Amino acid sequence: MKAIKQAGAIAVGLILGATPFLRYGVGGTHRHGAGPHTDHEPRHGGHVLMVGDYHLEVVDRGTLIELYLSDASRRPLRPRSSSVAFDGERETSLAWRSYRSVVPKPPDSTTALYHVSVRNGPLLTLKLP
Ligand SMILES: [Zn+2]
Repeated sequence: MKAIKQAGAIAVGLILGATPFLRYGVGGTHRHGAGPHTDHEPRHGGHVLMVGDYHLEVVDRGTLIELYLSDASRRPLRPRSSSVAFDGERETSLAWRSYRSVVPKPPDSTTALYHVSVRNGPLLTLKLP
């Protein structure tokens, strides 16, 4: 339950293609019935968050952040580009490595603002925590 509460507390926004009632972290109370959005299980030990009709799994490896983008049915997607600003500092691009986006995590950083550009789709904004 701890992970669910954390995900629910995370502010998630979407700049384009916004669907307001989907701007929430994904937790046990999130159900859409059969079809898209029936699978919100982490695949890589991180937290699955929903931004619009997309899913982002953020995995904190301590010194490295991994970001996995997938569609409504959790099919993996490669972002057109992605960047992050830690603690309000300037944005850094994430690198594409082996089916995920990665970026070094600065020591002691507490906040992160991600921008993920989906191919033929919207620009996703994710603010943690
Ligand atoms: Zn979903």
